[in-house]
Amino acid sequence: MSAVRQLGLPMTQADPGIDVDTVEIWEVAPRDGLQAESVTLDADTKVELIERLAQAGARIIEAGSFVRADRVPQMADSAEVLTRAAALEVRTPVLVPNLRGYELARAAGADDIAVFLSVTESFSQQNLGAARATMETVAGEVVARAIADGVRVRGYLSMVFGDPWEGAVATDEVVRLASVMRSWGVEQLSLGDTIGVATPGQVRGIVRALVDSGIPVGEIALHMHDTYGMAVANVHAGLEEGVRVFDAAAGGVGGCPFARSATGNLATDDLVWMLEGLGIRTGIDLDALTETSIWLTRALGKAPTSRVATALSR
Ligand code: MG
Repeated sequence: MSAVRQLGLPMTQADPGIDVDTVEIWEVAPRDGLQAESVTLDADTKVELIERLAQAGARIIEAGSFVRADRVPQMADSAEVLTRAAALEVRTPVLVPNLRGYELARAAGADDIAVFLSVTESFSQQNLGAARATMETVAGEVVARAIADGVRVRGYLSMVFGDPWEGAVATDEVVRLASVMRSWGVEQLSLGDTIGVATPGQVRGIVRALVDSGIPVGEIALHMHDTYGMAVANVHAGLEEGVRVFDAAAGGVGGCPFARSATGNLATDDLVWMLEGLGIRTGIDLDALTETSIWLTRALGKAPTSRVATALSR
C-alpha cells in the first residue's frame, strides 16, 4: 500500500511573513477566461457558470464585456448574461472599452465596471486596436461618466511585467499610468501580467514602486497568468508586500493569444489551495470550485490547466 495519502485539502501552516487572515478573489472566468477561448458558450451555460461560482463562494464575478461583437464574439451576449446574473447576491462587474460600451452596459443594469489600458504602445495597437494616448482619453471619459453616475470602477493595466514585442516594460510607465487612472478616481488598480512572464522579485519591485509613488497597497490587485508556472509564487510575493486582492479564473481558463503557451489565467483552484494552506480564508469551497472547473473545461472541450483541479478530479 502506498505511503502517500491523497488529501482533498492542503496542509495548513500560517506564514509568519504574511499578516492577514482573509483576501478577496476577483473571479474572471466568465469574462477574461471565456473571451480568450475558441469555443463560444451560450448564455445559459454562462449564467450557470456564474451561479455555480457564486454557490462555491465567489463574491466578485466578472460577468462579461461590452466590446464589439464582431471582434470578440465570445462576449456578444454579455447584456443578457449580466441581466440574468443580477438575481444573485454577488458583485458582477463588466469590462467596458469606451462610451458606447458603457451605455450598453448601463442599459443592461451595470453599476460596477472595469476599464483598461495597456502599459505598452505595441499591445495597445495590436490587441486594443488604438494608440495608447487615444485609449487613455477614451478610458478617462468612461471613468468620468461612471463616477458621475455613482458606478464603481476598477482600472486594469495590461502588459505590466513584460511585452511580447517590446520585451522589458519601464516601471516608470507603469507608475505613470497607474497614477493617471488613480487621478480619475478608480477604486482599484489591477496589474496584469498579460503574457505570464513575471517572477516574484519583479512583482515585489513593481508593487513597491507604486506604493512609493503614493498609491495605497490596499488599492492594488494582481492579475497573474501561469504561462511559466510562476503565478502562485507571484501571488505569494504580492501577499508579502501587502496586496490583498487577486484575480483568477476557475480551471485556469483563458489566456493570452500572444503568450507561447496553452496555459492561461492563474487558476482559482490553485490560488485557493495556496491561500487555504497559508491559513488565509477565501470563502470558497474548494470541492464546489473544482467541480465547476471540471464542468466548465468539459464544456469548452478541454482539460483544466489547474494542477489542483486535475489532482482533485482523479
Ligand atoms: Mg487574464
